[in-house]
Amino acid sequence: MSVPYRWSKHPLENITWKLKEIKWFYQRGKRGYSDRDVWDFYTYLLRVFAGGLKELKENEIGYPCTCYTDNKDPEKCDCENKWDMLLDKMIAGFKAGINYDDSFDEEDMKKCEEALDVFKEYFFALWD
Ligand SMILES: [Zn+2]
Repeated sequence: MSVPYRWSKHPLENITWKLKEIKWFYQRGKRGYSDRDVWDFYTYLLRVFAGGLKELKENEIGYPCTCYTDNKDPEKCDCENKWDMLLDKMIAGFKAGINYDDSFDEEDMKKCEEALDVFKEYFFALWD
């Protein structure tokens, strides 16, 4: 039987780790990230992005609409559906990016990069 974590060997190390977790919890509340989150910062950010985008999708009040600037008929607006698909694409891509941390699967990386492209294009539309 193997010991799953190095720090579980000694009770004092567990206590030290628990104290650090409390510190990181407060850092996250105060400044949005902890010292621990920076160790693996891109994964932390991908988790925040995927979680926030999921909230936006579930509580969707508005969506970016380009019908007026593109001279399209706003009565036939399909922007809400397009926005839903883009949110899904970003959420799936960021989850694939988190998965890449373990899988090193190039498909996961490709999905994440495509999600980052959409994220950049619609960055200032990410509000509700
Ligand atoms: Zn529209």
